[in-house]
Amino acid sequence: MAKYIFVTGGVTSSLGKGIIAASLAKLLQARGLRATIQKFDPYINVDPGTLNPYEHGECFVTEDGAETDLDLGHYERFLNIYTSQANNVTTGRIYQTVINKEREGAFLGKTVQVIPHITDEIKRRMLLLGKEDKYDVVLTEIGGTVGDIESLPFVEAVRQLQWELPEEDCLVIHLTLIPYLKAAKELKTKPTQHSVKLLSENGVHPDILVCRTEEPLNNELKRKIAQFCNVKPDAVIEAADASTIYEVPLMMMREKLDLICLKKLNITNYQEPELSKWKGFLDKLKYPKSKVTIGLIGKYIELQDAYKSILESFIHAGAMNECKVQVVNVHSEFITEENVSEKLGSLDGLLVAPGFGHRGIEGKIIAVQYARENGLPFFGICLGMQMAVIEYARNVLDLKDAHSTEMDPKAPYPVINMMEEQKKIRMMGGTMRLGAYPCEIKEGSLAHRIYGDLSITERHRHRFEFNNDFLEQFEQAGFVASGINPETGLVEIVELPHHPFFIGVQYHPELKSTVERPAPLFVHFIAAAKQYNDMRYSVKNPLLQSEMI
Ligand code: GLN
Repeated sequence: MAKYIFVTGGVTSSLGKGIIAASLAKLLQARGLRATIQKFDPYINVDPGTLNPYEHGECFVTEDGAETDLDLGHYERFLNIYTSQANNVTTGRIYQTVINKEREGAFLGKTVQVIPHITDEIKRRMLLLGKEDKYDVVLTEIGGTVGDIESLPFVEAVRQLQWELPEEDCLVIHLTLIPYLKAAKELKTKPTQHSVKLLSENGVHPDILVCRTEEPLNNELKRKIAQFCNVKPDAVIEAADASTIYEVPLMMMREKLDLICLKKLNITNYQEPELSKWKGFLDKLKYPKSKVTIGLIGKYIELQDAYKSILESFIHAGAMNECKVQVVNVHSEFITEENVSEKLGSLDGLLVAPGFGHRGIEGKIIAVQYARENGLPFFGICLGMQMAVIEYARNVLDLKDAHSTEMDPKAPYPVINMMEEQKKIRMMGGTMRLGAYPCEIKEGSLAHRIYGDLSITERHRHRFEFNNDFLEQFEQAGFVASGINPETGLVEIVELPHHPFFIGVQYHPELKSTVERPAPLFVHFIAAAKQYNDMRYSVKNPLLQSEMI
């Protein structure tokens, strides 16, 4: 049987529960334990797939095609493991299961209620991953903040499990905030006391308090928190602000969070933490030897969480290249033919982001044209790849008003078209082409050089695809489809051989980038940006003056 760690949050949202949970799991993994994490979200959507990025940040897609919370991305990036559908559960999914069972008559005439039926289903799912004998420890992050009405059934489920499971099989960590009042020059413990009180009123008593703070907590303060919140003094953990999220596991190790958990869970067969790869990555991240500036062109750029995995992939790829990647957000809605060179002129690379709908589309197309014509390294992801196709159709193949049928259903040249199997779909949730699919790569292509392999699998989330009716025309004009799905013929990768670095992919390579396994496309894109930057500052600049432009 696995051991269970529950992580709740108090005082305010955005304290970084996901990062704390992932850091603890990383430390347990580094000590030789098999650890996994799951997230329980209290909202009623069945999954976050139908949520706007403004509402909920990026939707993270797993290998098995689940649309999940972005914290699962952190879990994968930290632990270097794949999560799945089972790792993200929402209130909506819980109710859906219970209501379906009710319709089947499974409750044998009983009144179906929050307690016990909803809480039983929550508990069943909380214990599920631990039943397979695949994990020694299962961490469960409870979304939301203690005190929210919608969190109550989850907190109640934790209460019941704390009572049902053997004492040494279950542990509750409460993440809280110790605010610093500048005017009083003091750290304040009262909000934490109230938050723990609220949790206790619901019957859950935390074993460990992880305290987010901008100022160090001295021993006296830790003692005070311990005394008033009724936890052991060594179970008050300081979580100071970190310069990077990847520093947090080491900070938690210094605070002995892992050892306190191991002791409470009565786990004795652990080793000294093996974190050499992690530390090697951190060193490279902290002491870069060069710097590049990458433009991220999207329409949600005000909200950094919307492109979380892309930004993290840049961090992994930057460290690999010992290069600091400065990401400049460029709003696609405000790019015009007149201002494009001013907006993109100082960049070393251009990434056109994934997205949906027509807002900001023309700006993206103008940006692609600028990158293609000026030899600026270009990387298009999903919608970004589709924009590269449209740009080439309009400006090189001279197919006037070529478009994607997503933006213009009556486009005279529908170079991007809805996938056949998508046409009959009416329901929105979970119906895109999702998850991992194979792709075969053309020998000698840029993609081949990047992956060093001829067959790969990557994750997807889209409804539209390259229209193969135009493939011959594109290829005759020098546009290469260098990655194809072997079963359906769907174009997965496009590239321009006569450009220093121009590649677009229908899939999302950012979803598989981890600290220990950075995504090859990002690593090579940053390398190309570095080269471009070097060239710009060298006296002779043969590439920029050559026919490559
Ligand atoms: N909107 C496009 C499609 O559905 C691209 C999706 C994306 O960028 N994830 O095909």
